[in-house]
Amino acid sequence: MSFTIAHTIDDALTALAAGARPIAGGTDLVVGARHGKAPLPADLVAIDRLTELQAVTRTATGVSIGALVSHHTIETHPLLTTVYAGLADGSALVGSPSTRHIGTLGGNIMNGSPAMDTGATLQVLGAEVELRSLRGSRRVPISQLWAGPGRTTAAPDELCVAIHLPAPEGQSNSAYIRLEYRRAMEIAVVGAGASVTLSNDGTIAAMAVALTAVAPVILSVTGLDDLIGRPVIEAAAAAGLLASAQATPISDVRASNHYRRHTVGVMARRSVEAAARRAGGETIAIPVNRAIGIGAAS
Ligand SMILES: Cc1cc2nc3c(=O)[nH]c(=O)nc-3n(C[C@H](O)[C@H](O)[C@H](O)COP(=O)(O)OP(=O)(O)OC[C@H]3O[C@@H](n4cnc5c(N)ncnc54)[C@H](O)[C@@H]3O)c2cc1C
Repeated sequence: MSFTIAHTIDDALTALAAGARPIAGGTDLVVGARHGKAPLPADLVAIDRLTELQAVTRTATGVSIGALVSHHTIETHPLLTTVYAGLADGSALVGSPSTRHIGTLGGNIMNGSPAMDTGATLQVLGAEVELRSLRGSRRVPISQLWAGPGRTTAAPDELCVAIHLPAPEGQSNSAYIRLEYRRAMEIAVVGAGASVTLSNDGTIAAMAVALTAVAPVILSVTGLDDLIGRPVIEAAAAAGLLASAQATPISDVRASNHYRRHTVGVMARRSVEAAARRAGGETIAIPVNRAIGIGAAS
């Protein structure tokens, strides 16, 4: 059993190569162990002091978000809350203020829960995940990162160092909406992220929708190309029907599969509508959930 504190990325990569698991904020790893979900790994390397992984940086092709960037930074960052608003919607819904200050984007995606609140938007935005090990570095489309609940395709010695998002084209924006029974400390019953690009006449020029908590991994909705050129309201309704038809949810103590299948369609329709309003220049407060009245009144 060992606990190492990494002061450089190389320290972390060396520890991972020797079999240690990374711990960033610990809000999944430690809290899960305390609740008996899985025991803490025998060997841990703390990566939270790696300042190189804590920056949000504009790049020639878009933006790079360091793996250790917190949900709080994302929900308040001037670039992310405007240009990549759907990602900020998701981060703003995570747990409580303390969870959002400690929990990281890298931890959220590498934990691999199909109920994670950032995954759907990252998928519709075409995010790439940068993984690094002592063997080198590679970028993986985020749609290829998740292998099942709690499992990723990353090798055990690979550290997620950054998430890269392309610059949106034309009149584009995104939104993420989740169904929740209360305003905080809630895991998504279902959720949907959408990205929309508008034509000059206000119809749909491009659209992507991905779903949370209705399949073993974040699920991309297919068949949306047929909706290009349609008015937003019509396309949003059709996307909602496709989402319900393609979802394969489970029943558990929080909702039946029938309820999840229906409500994910509603969330998909609303997320397309909200993304289109933002793409058209309207400001909708982060998170959209509160702005459109989902969740109990404050
Ligand atoms: C009270 C509470 C409420 C929560 N509510 C929500 C919610 O509403 N929505 C939501 O999506 N999540 C929620 N979570 C889950 C959690 O807060 C998030 O998933 C958070 O982003 C995890 O980040 P972390 O840095 O704490 O990850 P950690 O717990 O440190 O790590 C999680 C997993 O990822 C791995 N890992 C971490 N960083 C890296 C890296 N850079 N490279 C490779 N592997 C890595 C770890 O080994 C571990 O397996 C909640 C948690 C708590 C405790």
